[in-house]
Amino acid sequence: MSEAKKVLGVYGAGSSHWVGDGFPVRTVFPSRGVSDLSPFLMLDYAGPARFEPSSRPRGVEQHPHRGFETVTIAYQGSVDHRDSGGNSGTIHPGDVQWMTAASGVVHEEKHGNDFTAKGGDFEMAQLWVNLPAAHKMAKPRYQGLASADIPRVDLGPGAYARIIAGELNGVHGPARTFTPVNVFDVRLEANGKGELRLPAEQNSAIVLLRGELIVNGTETLKGTARIAPLSRDGETVTLEAKTESLILVLSGEPINEPVASYGPFVMNTQAELRQAVEDYQAGRMGRV
Ligand code: MN
Repeated sequence: MSEAKKVLGVYGAGSSHWVGDGFPVRTVFPSRGVSDLSPFLMLDYAGPARFEPSSRPRGVEQHPHRGFETVTIAYQGSVDHRDSGGNSGTIHPGDVQWMTAASGVVHEEKHGNDFTAKGGDFEMAQLWVNLPAAHKMAKPRYQGLASADIPRVDLGPGAYARIIAGELNGVHGPARTFTPVNVFDVRLEANGKGELRLPAEQNSAIVLLRGELIVNGTETLKGTARIAPLSRDGETVTLEAKTESLILVLSGEPINEPVASYGPFVMNTQAELRQAVEDYQAGRMGRV
């Protein structure tokens, strides 16, 4: 018999702010309630928000990253990425961009041209995944993961998971990762009910982006941008939705190394952060 993971608490988003002029985000973590969920560093949930048609793509102008990965999941609208490595791509609902900044990338993130011209509802999430010291200065990498390549696993009546990274019930997600990580896009209909297994000894959390959800029969998450970190002990989680719910399930092997962060750089030491700033300012991370 496998035991249920314990819900360690239910927390609201840490802050609300705009990223550039395109992404009205709530930072789900870090927050007062959830400060350490290694290897995950941060989760921003943008929207849902309505944008009018525009002749100029909204978003965030070119900026650097070093030492980690950014994972962008599109739910409504589209997101366009261009970076200093010459990579580019536009993701639409269901698609994911998995960008490994590693030694350094300068990129811009904008609404896609199609969405910009038409306007409409916009909704996305961006997760930051840390890299171990051994890979922080690896070559940058870009994985554009198309919706059709992200497999689905049924969790129960009215409940399924899309496996973006990692594995569930023998089904593997398409993302290549540097450490063991599970990222599942989980959808429940109203009154949908499902169960899933997450590895013991990993950090994990259930994130309700929007909806109303009962975890393990007792803990209620309701509204938008709520997070329930789970105990490492135990392996099973049950999810039951009162209304249609959009959920992210995260679990990963903690990276037990010091974390030094400064804005868009996440390294192990202050000296490495100073080097990152110097390299960026000297143009050594390139230009879009
Ligand atoms: Mn960025």
